[in-house]
Amino acid sequence: MTHTKSSAFAEVNEKVAQAGEILGLKSGVVKALSSCEREVVISIPLRRGDDVDVLTGYRVQHSSARGPRKGGIRFHQDVDLDDVRALASLMTWKTALIDVPFGGAKGGVAVDPSKLTSIEKEEIIRRWTRSLVHVLGHHRDIPAPDMGTDAKSMAWLMDEFHRLEGFQPACVTGKPVELFGAAGREEATGRGVAMIAAATLKENKIKVEGATVAIQGFGNVGRYAALVCQELGMKVIALSDMSGGIVDKKGIDIKAIFNVASLADVKSDNRIGSADVLEIECDVLIPAALGNVINDSNVDKIKAAFVVEGANQPTSTSADRKLRANSIVVVPDILANSGGVMGSYFEWTQNIQQFSWPIEKFRGELDVRMQKAFVNVNETATKYNTDLRSAAFILAVERVANAFSQRGSL
Ligand code: GLU
Repeated sequence: MTHTKSSAFAEVNEKVAQAGEILGLKSGVVKALSSCEREVVISIPLRRGDDVDVLTGYRVQHSSARGPRKGGIRFHQDVDLDDVRALASLMTWKTALIDVPFGGAKGGVAVDPSKLTSIEKEEIIRRWTRSLVHVLGHHRDIPAPDMGTDAKSMAWLMDEFHRLEGFQPACVTGKPVELFGAAGREEATGRGVAMIAAATLKENKIKVEGATVAIQGFGNVGRYAALVCQELGMKVIALSDMSGGIVDKKGIDIKAIFNVASLADVKSDNRIGSADVLEIECDVLIPAALGNVINDSNVDKIKAAFVVEGANQPTSTSADRKLRANSIVVVPDILANSGGVMGSYFEWTQNIQQFSWPIEKFRGELDVRMQKAFVNVNETATKYNTDLRSAAFILAVERVANAFSQRGSL
């Protein structure tokens, strides 16, 4: 389960309403920012032997107030409309917070990606694209990878889009580097998470060198977050994925295990369960897998000083409150994992200009802009005497509300 059903979007909107109240926004504006501009639900027939399976797919466009809608496509068996609405809305706040010229959207297909062949996955992505092509495009809505999809999936999406609409490589981001992708995009989310973890330690006067880190998730985000944390001098002492977890107080050598298919393939005499990694004593805990993993059932067992949210919505609203009561600092998803969409912005601009940056420029821009967003959120937290999540929402909601109001002379 990603979330208790029908709660995820309401939880995001609670933060939007809170920010709206602090900013003194009109109630109609708050209502608009709590609704989605367009929601498309599609059925995807998938050939299975001599019969068909019919899957449900989604694209939710939450806001275009600040630019074309932007957000990934998630393949997961628990995806439903409420989840996609919540994730689309988070994209609006994320893109506003880091000040890139996009709105927010999200797509999904309710299917277990681990049970699909590559050919089935391609068929699903192509069908998803054909059904939604009328609402997509580089100046309308730009998909990207999310959980269960990757660069290969984005190549199929672009290819299908090109067949229907002609050449337009900026119609999707997160593509393979050889096919209009940007060097640096694949690592960008995890890199950003690690940079924000280091900035958080520094802000709290804790040495980055030797600081201990526990990470849940060893997919795209978790892997690169772990690698860059190690490169920055931190010690990754616990890791987990769906197969279980490993602990090594001396520090796990991420470089050595970076390419394993699953952590089950890593030799270790200290194995734990997937969720146990959340309860490890450490400086920084990075949930980088599913949503709602820190909830009422385990929140009082969290022993980290800082939670840096690599995943989207990994902490339930009530667990968030309890973490604060337990003096644990939470760096919110819309800041911590925004390196992904920042990287997508770099890829999109390069595609539009038909120009490509060397990876050093990509990394340099990413680091500078992430640092700026981090400073902005911290300053806002001080100004309003509030926590980092509330501050991030205040900043983002203010920007989107301004754009929304100026468009409609409100
Ligand atoms: N799926 C990623 C996210 O949740 C990236 C989205 C994008 O690059 O558009 O932020």
